[in-house]
Amino acid sequence: MYASMKEILQHASVNHYAVPAPNCPGYNMVKAACMAAEAKKSAVIIDLSPRQFKTNATPEVWAPMVKAIAEPLDVPVALNLDHGTEIEDICRCIKAGFSSVMCDASSLPFEENVRRVQQVVVCAHAHGVSVEAELGRVGQAAEGDGRFDDMYTNVDMAVEFVKRTGCDCLAVAIGTAHGKYPADYVPRLDFERLAEIKAALGQNYPLVLHGGSGSGDKNFQKAVAGGINKINLWTDYSRTYISAVREFLAVNESPDYIFVATDAEEKASKWLERYMDLFGSAGRFQFSKHKMQEMD
Ligand SMILES: [Zn+2]
Repeated sequence: MYASMKEILQHASVNHYAVPAPNCPGYNMVKAACMAAEAKKSAVIIDLSPRQFKTNATPEVWAPMVKAIAEPLDVPVALNLDHGTEIEDICRCIKAGFSSVMCDASSLPFEENVRRVQQVVVCAHAHGVSVEAELGRVGQAAEGDGRFDDMYTNVDMAVEFVKRTGCDCLAVAIGTAHGKYPADYVPRLDFERLAEIKAALGQNYPLVLHGGSGSGDKNFQKAVAGGINKINLWTDYSRTYISAVREFLAVNESPDYIFVATDAEEKASKWLERYMDLFGSAGRFQFSKHKMQEMD
C-alpha cells in the first residue's frame, strides 16, 4: 500500500530497524524496489532526486505511478523527494502527491536552514506529507567529504533544529559521503556521535543515513543498532542495475528490450532484498488492507 513515510519511520524507530531508500529514476527500478519489499515483507522508501525532473522522471508521473504499483501490495511503500533544495521543486512534489519531501538546506547557515525547513513543514504537514531535513553536511565522496568532522552533525544544534522546525526525521552527517569512495576506502563512522544524537532527540525519533553505498555491512549494522532508521542507497543500486544490463547484453546478441529490463529488475530486486535482511526491515509486515500491521 502507498503509505506515509512518517508512519514507516516511526515503526522502524520504535522497533529498532532501518528501511532502505533506493533512488529510483526509472519505472523498472521502482518496480524492483517494490518487488523486493513484497518478497521480504518489508517497507520500502522510493527516493527521487530533483536532478531527474528535467530528464526522465517528473513528480506528476512518479506519484501516480508509484501509487499504482504500491497500492495492491501488502507492504508499505512511500515516495520521497531526495535532496529538495529548491522550494519550487518541493511544492511541486507535495502537489503531485509524494508522501514525503526532503528539504535540504544543509549547505546554508543554521538559521537559514531552520527558516527554510519551518516553511516547508507548515506546507507539507497541511497536506499530510512528512518532511526530512539535514543538519551537518554529508557531501561528496569524490571530493573527500565525510572525512572531516567539522561537517558532522552537532548534537546540541540537532536538538534545537528539530524542536524549532518540527521536521519528521533528520539526516545526520557522521562520516559517510555521497557517490563512490576511492578504491579500498571504507568510511569510518562516528558511532559515538550517532548515539549522542539519538539519545538527545529521543530513542523514537527517526534518523537518516545518506551516502549509504560502499559503507560496508559492518558499518550498516552498527548504524542501525545506533538508531539509524532510513538508509539511502543510490550509487550501488544504480550500479547493480547497470551491471545487470551489461551482463545481459554481453550474452544476448539481439536482445528484446522487455527481457533486458525485466532481467535487470530481477537482479536489482534481489540485491535490495539482501539489504532488507541486513537492515532488519525484512519480515515486519503482513497483509493488511490499508493499515500497517506488524507480523505476529
Ligand atoms: Zn543524500
